[in-house]
Amino acid sequence: MSMNAAISSLKQSRGVIERYREFLPVSDSTPIVSLGEGTTPLVYSAKLSARVGRGCEVFVKNEGVNPTGSFKDRGMTVAVSKAIERGARMLICASTGNTSASAAAYAARAGIECAVILPAGKIARGKLLQAFVHGAKIIAIDGNFDDALRIVRKLGQRENLAIVNSINPDRIAGQKTAAFEIVDLLGDAPHFQLLPLGNAGNLTAYWAGYREYHGNGRSKKLPAMLGFQAAGAAPIFHDKIIERPETIASAIRIGNPASWKQARAAIDQSKGIVDLVTDEEIIDAQIWLARHEGIFVEPAGAAAIAGLFKCCSAKDAVYSFKKIPKGSRIVCTVTGHGLKDPDVLTARMETTTPVAADEERVLRALGL
Ligand SMILES: *Cc1c(COP(=O)(O)O)cnc(C)c1O
Repeated sequence: MSMNAAISSLKQSRGVIERYREFLPVSDSTPIVSLGEGTTPLVYSAKLSARVGRGCEVFVKNEGVNPTGSFKDRGMTVAVSKAIERGARMLICASTGNTSASAAAYAARAGIECAVILPAGKIARGKLLQAFVHGAKIIAIDGNFDDALRIVRKLGQRENLAIVNSINPDRIAGQKTAAFEIVDLLGDAPHFQLLPLGNAGNLTAYWAGYREYHGNGRSKKLPAMLGFQAAGAAPIFHDKIIERPETIASAIRIGNPASWKQARAAIDQSKGIVDLVTDEEIIDAQIWLARHEGIFVEPAGAAAIAGLFKCCSAKDAVYSFKKIPKGSRIVCTVTGHGLKDPDVLTARMETTTPVAADEERVLRALGL
């Protein structure tokens, strides 16, 4: 057997391009760059279902278990494959952290260079470490994410450079596959799809995915899209650009979303809503999910869970689940892994004083 035949006969997990090729902008001549992304768990939560009541079923789509720990990998496999097909020599992106982590890993896999433009001091430690370890050229700027994206838009016009932010339609195409997976597992679309909203590319992508499957007769209904922004970074909610967005959830710390119009249209067409969640609600939801379902997500990843809680009980919620149709199915997408951003929670962790290496002492320390 030749080396190539040996490699191609290896059993590898399929990434989203292989799984959903017919729905993606690839051809037989597209070189596929994949790390086996997608096919992430859709976890039924009895506890969240009980919170909603009325016989509703809540599922958590855990995107934190993608190869680099966020949903960005679904879009990156398509964006990088297409960039290579077009002859790009270097990827470039602005990032709040996860796009750069993903771009750096896929660039390494593809054997090309990657430049990441980041707001100085604003990137979660784990994410910055990922960009570094995968060998990206990291440029920190004195500015925020929106400034970084403005610069990348300009630089990306150069030959051989490929922008892999979600303004690249190949990213959105890849991210649609999360909606496909949900429909494939549930047998239909859910009634409600909850997502965090940052640059708003992902909500745009989910809606495109749900609509495409619906148009193909693979689902009977379309979900209402419910997007949640952090209270200090809520341009779509307030319908105005936020010059200095602030939130502990760095992945959604964005004041002027690139896919603002598309997400607004998706929310309106789907009869959905945009609402706010405070940093405190986000952290509470993050810890709740970790303690009650064993799923550890980063703060931005918990925004949809915080949103679900708000819809269940808050008087000021834009949409109330009190009047939700009985037996509704709800999917909350959690977008990134908790280990990426340890600093947010470390401050809350109790420090333990060591006890003697002795069975009795340990028993006593356990309160047994
Ligand atoms: C990128 C990201 C978001 C925001 O997604 P948008 O497409 O920018 O709205 C939310 N959570 C995590 C963990 C992310 O990495």
